[in-house]
Amino acid sequence: MAEIKLRKVMRCPVCFARENDVTLLKDGDEYYCIRCSYHGTADHIAGMYMDLRKKYRWIQHRVTLEELRIL
Ligand SMILES: [Zn+2]
Repeated sequence: MAEIKLRKVMRCPVCFARENDVTLLKDGDEYYCIRCSYHGTADHIAGMYMDLRKKYRWIQHRVTLEELRIL
């Protein structure tokens, strides 16, 4: 059985924050973006992904009018 090696696809956090979906290319230990010239390590990108998750933290929750009044 052929072994399938999956490549981890990293998306540019700067472009993703601007609603663009651009995959990063790898250069040694760092990743770089061909669109906005962002470059950083995997740990730095993971931290930026955590910041982006704050933006969408209520996406799975339906906000009712009663909850909106409280907000
Ligand atoms: Zn980018």
